[in-house]
Formats: sequence, C-alpha cells, structure tokens
Amino acid sequence: MNDSVTITTRGAVTVHSWAGPAEGLSANTQFIELPTEIVAIDAQFDEAFARDALAYATSLGKPITRLYISHAHPDHFLGAAAFAAPVYALASLKADAAAIGRDAPAPDYVVSPGEEIIDGVRFDFQIVTDTEASEALVVGLPDHGILIAGDVLYNRYHLYIADGHLEQWARVIGQLAAEPYDVIVPGHGEPAGVELYDEVTEYLTFAKTALATAEDGAALKSALVNRFPDHRGVGLIDIQNGYIFPG
Ligand SMILES: [Zn+2]
Repeated sequence: MNDSVTITTRGAVTVHSWAGPAEGLSANTQFIELPTEIVAIDAQFDEAFARDALAYATSLGKPITRLYISHAHPDHFLGAAAFAAPVYALASLKADAAAIGRDAPAPDYVVSPGEEIIDGVRFDFQIVTDTEASEALVVGLPDHGILIAGDVLYNRYHLYIADGHLEQWARVIGQLAAEPYDVIVPGHGEPAGVELYDEVTEYLTFAKTALATAEDGAALKSALVNRFPDHRGVGLIDIQNGYIFPG
C-alpha cells in the first residue's frame, strides 16, 4: 500500500491525488470524488500499483464510473486493466502507445474537447498538442477552480523532455495560466497553486539550453540535477536519456 495521498476539497468536489511509488515514476492517479461517484484520471505504471490505488479509492465508498487516460505514456495507462470502469481517452492513445512499443487499451469512449456535466459538476475537457506528449488531455472543473493538468505540469519532479516540444509546451502553459484556475493538480508531484506555471516554465527554459549544449546524457543529467537539486524523478532523466542520446 501507498499512503501518499493528497486531498483537495472545493465545495462538492474532493480530488484525491494518489501518488504511485518511485518505481512507477510517482505518477499520480487522480480520484475526483463527486457527490455520488468517482471519476479517475490515469492508471499507474503497472497493474499492481493500480490495485493499490484502487484499494484506497474503494475506501471512499463510491463507484468509479469512468477512467480517463491523459496521454500515451506508460506510467499513465499500463495499469488500466485493473480498473473495471469504462476507459475514456484520446483517439490517438492506442497508436501513440504502439509507436513506443506499448499496448494501451482501446478507449470505450473517445474524448472530444468541450464541457460535460458529470454528477452535477461541470467538467471542461481540453486537448493540448506538443507538450510533454504529442497529445494530452487536460481536465478543468471551472466552477471549482481546479485544473487537472496531467503531465503538462509536474511539481518538483524532473520533466520528461525527450519529446522535445519545449517552446510549444511553454506556450500552452501560458495559455492555461490565463484560465481561471487556482488549484493546479499535476501528473507528478503534489497539487499546488498557480506558482506551478512559472516553476515549470523556468524548468523548460533551462532544459532547452541544457539540451542544446549537453554533449551526452551524463552532462544533461548533471546540468538538470545541479540546477534543480530538490526535484524528484532523477530516474526519469536516465530513461529519457536513452531516447535523447540513443546508443
Ligand atoms: Zn507521467
């Protein structure tokens, strides 16, 4: 079991951010507790971690009616089979996962952008492109000020920058920052306030230069770790170095 849950309550909504273990890159599963049901976002790096997350959610005593998968990175969907709820995901999920050699579930429902009322609570689904992943789902609860950002934002955790869209990523963050949210729930790390926008943008700015100048993976890693010594997720740098510096 993992007791790393951060709870955020705003009116009729409580977001339980369940952080996976370090071996699962500490990826968050968000359990959005509504008046009579729970909407889950992201499914952990494997089924064992997902089962631990579900054991926590079961204690809340409400059914999980939907599982959303925010994007096609394995720490967010490999545990999906542990969930009984229907899968909601972007149309690109399965193909994007296959492109990195992973098998993602085919969505039961394809998510399109726009608003939907679920259990009396207004959700705003946004699809952003070329950020941490080529496509990603961002979920806002506009009446509650809560933005569930997936991996467009991390909190004090090294970013996965191997997909390399750093300028567009920063632009998208700027757009999100203009929206009326003040509780920001990231894909890795704990929920925070709007300061996350500047913190992640600063990381991206530094990483862009570090990427351009590092001669190899070790140099990139030491530059990032020296600049952001308190960030978790150093292991993620090793994983992405395999993509940035193949061989
Ligand atoms: Zn992730």
